[in-house]
Amino acid sequence: MRIWIKTPLAILADNAAGGLVVEDARIVECLAAGATPAAPVDETFDASAHVVVPGLVNTHHHFFQTLTRAHPQAINKELFPWLMSLYPIWAKNVTPETFRMGTRLALTELMMSGCTTAADHHYLFPAGLEDAIDIQVEEATRLGIRMTVTRGSMNLSQKDGGLPPDTVVQDEDTILADSERVLSRYHDTSDGAKIQVALAPCAPFTVTKHLMRESVALAERFDCRLHTHLGETIDEDDYCLHHFQCRPVDYLEDCGWLNERVWLAHGIHFTDDEIARLGRHRVGVCHCPTSNMVLASGQCRTRELEAAGSPVGLGVDGSASNDNSNLMEGLRHALMINRLTYDAASVTHYDTFRWATEGSARCLGREDIGSIAVGKQADLALYTLEELRFSGSGDPLAALVLCGAHTADRVMIGGEWTVVDKRPVTIDIERLRAEHGAAAKRFLEAL
Ligand code: ZN
Repeated sequence: MRIWIKTPLAILADNAAGGLVVEDARIVECLAAGATPAAPVDETFDASAHVVVPGLVNTHHHFFQTLTRAHPQAINKELFPWLMSLYPIWAKNVTPETFRMGTRLALTELMMSGCTTAADHHYLFPAGLEDAIDIQVEEATRLGIRMTVTRGSMNLSQKDGGLPPDTVVQDEDTILADSERVLSRYHDTSDGAKIQVALAPCAPFTVTKHLMRESVALAERFDCRLHTHLGETIDEDDYCLHHFQCRPVDYLEDCGWLNERVWLAHGIHFTDDEIARLGRHRVGVCHCPTSNMVLASGQCRTRELEAAGSPVGLGVDGSASNDNSNLMEGLRHALMINRLTYDAASVTHYDTFRWATEGSARCLGREDIGSIAVGKQADLALYTLEELRFSGSGDPLAALVLCGAHTADRVMIGGEWTVVDKRPVTIDIERLRAEHGAAAKRFLEAL
């Protein structure tokens, strides 16, 4: 099957004004203005009303948190008190059924915003939710979206000086055995993989040093990525100084985590020396602008991190600190917060697209996605500029970010259309809204 996505209104790719040709799962030709495909095509899609960009890649989320959006007990707090309010509510109400709905909603919402690959950091395993990773794989497969499923973990609870309650943590043996199980079952290292698995101990204040080290050993054995939260808040600095007598990056190094398998969520509170060390070891950072503003966590030093050698990607973060899963909106927020950190001329819409595509792909260790080029997977997001918010706009690519695009008109993943006319192909969104809303209600019942 060969399809020509013909003469787009604008496209984020070099020398491709004539569009691109997709054959099966891959991009096989990029056409200059006026050029036609080298061989006959089966189908031509007229993209003259579409702005075409590489499928966006989300590198940090907590899907289950879509069930506690704008929760009255959590709003208007910073990270630690926000977490302390939510842990018991999650522990009591996240079941296989509610978790499935949370996952389905987050993936659908991400995909409708133009996201074609999503990583979820799932670290909550209350009794009964042992199959969380299996549920996520099922839901991603059903939707057709590419996913890095992370087998997260917490094994340091309040009785041992950690932050989470005892009911939401697991012991190290259970965590490592299940990590090995899901890696063996789902981790696909081949080119064009739909599902990959990464290991993701939650944060310095929720896991033991021993588990951090064992996770590195397992990641090396299975050739997978490693992920955790780091440098999100000053509270975390204080926690590390108090418990480990060092700063978070020193702790990370002590755990054997300064290596290029690792990408970190947030990466805000780093010194110049720490940024240089992270860059030297090619540790990736997922910038989460919306969450960082909602929780008043601070501003990620994206330019210094990239200059030092760290891949910088983009993430919406969990839907209780965003509180949506719209990655396209994340680009707009990234532009704005980075202009407060730097200045208008040195942060443009191209930077935000680079973070959300190539940078995110590098964080996930993938070379087969993240740009529109011959040989890459055909992961594309196509937007029209028909909504009122775009009326009068000049530069189409800049308009997506500056005017605030929210919903892709079409999304293609591995050569398959997964969103057509702004609606996901395999999901009834009215039904999803009703079922997810009903599942989320119980999270308010204890109030
Ligand atoms: Zn997070």
